[in-house]
Amino acid sequence: MILYDGWFYNFRELIKTRGEKMRDLSRFKIRLEEMREILKSRLKVIEGEGPRYAGSEEVDIANYMNEMDSLYREKEECERTLKRVEKALKRFEKGTYGLCVDCGKEISEERLEVVPFAERCIECEKKINKVGRK
Ligand SMILES: [Zn+2]
Repeated sequence: MILYDGWFYNFRELIKTRGEKMRDLSRFKIRLEEMREILKSRLKVIEGEGPRYAGSEEVDIANYMNEMDSLYREKEECERTLKRVEKALKRFEKGTYGLCVDCGKEISEERLEVVPFAERCIECEKKINKVGRK
């Protein structure tokens, strides 16, 4: 095991000196493609069905409005996420996936596990949130 680790370390150093990415991020691509399909089909359902409007009572109108509201919000959320997923897939094509769009540093795989479409490293994301909150 120690031998294997040593070999792996050397291999990594070798790749590093050649200036290549040694991270295998292909699993995130698969996940992003899955997410894209799920989001697209969900959007189709939202756009196709719309809320069920079953009556003319005032209560029903209130329900209808609520349903419209939550559907609209879900649609927005789906569209926003879908855009981010598609952007992330484009970065795969360009070979810049997993690199922060602001500072160019590698985004940690732990972060990508949680947010596979993350555009920024945690440091830059924090900066943006600070600015946004002002
Ligand atoms: Zn960054």
